[in-house]
Amino acid sequence: MISGLLIMGGLGILCGAGLALASKIFYVYVDPKVEAVTGALPGANCGGCGKPGCGANAEAIVKGKASPSSCVAGGPDIAAEIAAIMGVKLEAREPDIARPGCTYGTQDADLKYIYDGVMDCRAAALLGGGSKVCPIGCLGLGTCVRACPFNALSMGPDYLPVVNVERCTGCGTCERVCPKGIITLTSNTRRIQAEYTTDECTAPCQRACPAGIDIPAYILAIREKKFGEAVRIIKETNPFPLVCGRICVHPCEFDCRRNLVDNSVAINPLKRFVADYEMNSGQRIHVPRGPETGKRIAVIGGGAEGLTAAYYLNRLGHESTVYEGTERLGGLLHTGLPENRLPRQTLEWEINGILDAGVKANLNQKLGKDFTIESLLKEGNSAVFVATGGWDTRMSEKDGDSKMLPGVQLLVDFLLKHREGAKQAAGRNVMILGGGKAALDAARLSLQTGSQKVYLVLRKSKERSGYSDEEIMSAEKESVVFFFESAMTKMLGRGGDLTQVSIRSSRADGQGEVILDVDTLMIGTGRFPELIYIPRMEEQGKEGWETVAPYPGPFAMEDIGIFRPGEAGSDYKAVVEAIGAGRRAANSVHRFLTGLDMNAPSTMIRKATRVLTLDKLEPVSTIPRQEMPELSPEDRIGDPSAEIALGFSEEQAVKEACRCLQCGLICYSRLQRIEHSAKAHSA
Ligand code: SF4
Ligand code: SF4
Repeated sequence: MISGLLIMGGLGILCGAGLALASKIFYVYVDPKVEAVTGALPGANCGGCGKPGCGANAEAIVKGKASPSSCVAGGPDIAAEIAAIMGVKLEAREPDIARPGCTYGTQDADLKYIYDGVMDCRAAALLGGGSKVCPIGCLGLGTCVRACPFNALSMGPDYLPVVNVERCTGCGTCERVCPKGIITLTSNTRRIQAEYTTDECTAPCQRACPAGIDIPAYILAIREKKFGEAVRIIKETNPFPLVCGRICVHPCEFDCRRNLVDNSVAINPLKRFVADYEMNSGQRIHVPRGPETGKRIAVIGGGAEGLTAAYYLNRLGHESTVYEGTERLGGLLHTGLPENRLPRQTLEWEINGILDAGVKANLNQKLGKDFTIESLLKEGNSAVFVATGGWDTRMSEKDGDSKMLPGVQLLVDFLLKHREGAKQAAGRNVMILGGGKAALDAARLSLQTGSQKVYLVLRKSKERSGYSDEEIMSAEKESVVFFFESAMTKMLGRGGDLTQVSIRSSRADGQGEVILDVDTLMIGTGRFPELIYIPRMEEQGKEGWETVAPYPGPFAMEDIGIFRPGEAGSDYKAVVEAIGAGRRAANSVHRFLTGLDMNAPSTMIRKATRVLTLDKLEPVSTIPRQEMPELSPEDRIGDPSAEIALGFSEEQAVKEACRCLQCGLICYSRLQRIEHSAKAHSA
């Protein structure tokens, strides 16, 4: 027995020594901070931080690769606790909320077959993408609901997920498990930056809106008498509902699906109704502002585009200041429209709303005279956005020196000066953008008056340039260098000087980016495009600047280059296009400053994108469109400046909102629902 005890004791000592040795050999150091942060994290392992679990996120936080507020499930208290452990200041974080993007459940949507398999959306999606005809419709089997670690989702009576916003932490689990991409995370910042894509359910009207307003959503809010909510939805993409509600050319109404039944929904008068509601209430409704970024942005130009850009830059958390050359904001909105269409008081209330949101304005400040791009960058602005509508005329007005933007001048000014006898060279290295005989004349004149290099950059091919082979050969002999099917993509400079220009071929087999030494850029007729100037650190620590172009909007016909034909920047047809361009410019600046991809989503719906839609509807009852009440002819004579269109009454607005079919990609509200709603509201 004693020997047995000795053997057991010896074995115990041996094992203990072995374990002690192993713990020394295989010792892994665990940073006490990682342990402390892991302890502070909620342990949900939801993956919302983008890491495989709480432990991995704790390590990332301690290594400085993730923010103390990266845990979406933890909320502000846990973020503050982690920041205290890390000894860092907590940066503000905007909460994300899950938003289902399908509005017609399996009982209301067209089906290809009846699914009777495993109750899991991922399994159902394997059968031809699911039972719905709509390729992006919710399958209604609730995989997202079961996956949500915070019990924030439930299935509604229409077999669509419903989000409990109080419980949703924005962890994104639902987004990740949904095989159809129905649920996405959203926030005010994300909604301001949104572009419609082929992956989501969109109505024909909203796809046609140059500002990108979520039209069905605001009409639904009007139907439910949530007028303030309707204003907020509109202002997510358009800060001018009073103006647009009066003067917009409303391309949305031409594309309204209701045209297949009777007449389009009065989309624009409905917008005006809620905008008037806001004005008459005297209470400003704003899109909530994102976390403060501490960045300052200058916007040159106080027209619709500049004010829109400044408003969204402010809402995205930046400090934005508008520099306007005249004594008032609003640009052509003030001068181009009669009082009886757009009363000045109404316009001013809308503009004051933008200032009320926090946008600053410096009036009577002229570019090139009172300030320059260089001075704005030196003052600490992180970016300068040139909202340029109509700059061509203003540039040429400036006492014979049209170089208000560094190195840029109008081709027409150069030719006129020469016709008047001036013989000085345009510059040492000149680039001329655009074709035509005038461009070729300017190229030759530049060389004759001392320029050393002249580049002629055309979007068109050699064959479609309008130049004969002889003209091209002759110009080339004079040292003009042609770049066909090419576009300017960037300007680079220092102080008040342009130093380089980069161009890129639009041909698939073309050369990539080419950077040329250029000190003078001549542009042809047309409006100068929008440009964002940003600071650039050159070699040897010298400060310079470069330009970035806002990402091309849905109406741009070409993707590359700064002068993109067909989009608002070069061809304003309506104020709503300027508004759309202003929001996209603000988004581009924000993306640049926050290190996000500057490009539009690859699936963004463009004018030429083919989107699944309908060419006939049934069964939908006809309902007459509400007529806009107008001032009587006698009253018009009595007061010619009085506003002619008087706006819908509340009763009219709600009735008209009930005409909306609440369209999805191919779904829409059917007969019963329309009649029910119309009756409910006419009661
Ligand atoms: S949102 Fe996605 S996961 Fe949730 S029920 Fe619909 S298809 Fe299924
Ligand atoms: S019926 Fe409504 S949702 Fe459909 S296109 Fe017209 S306004 Fe848009």
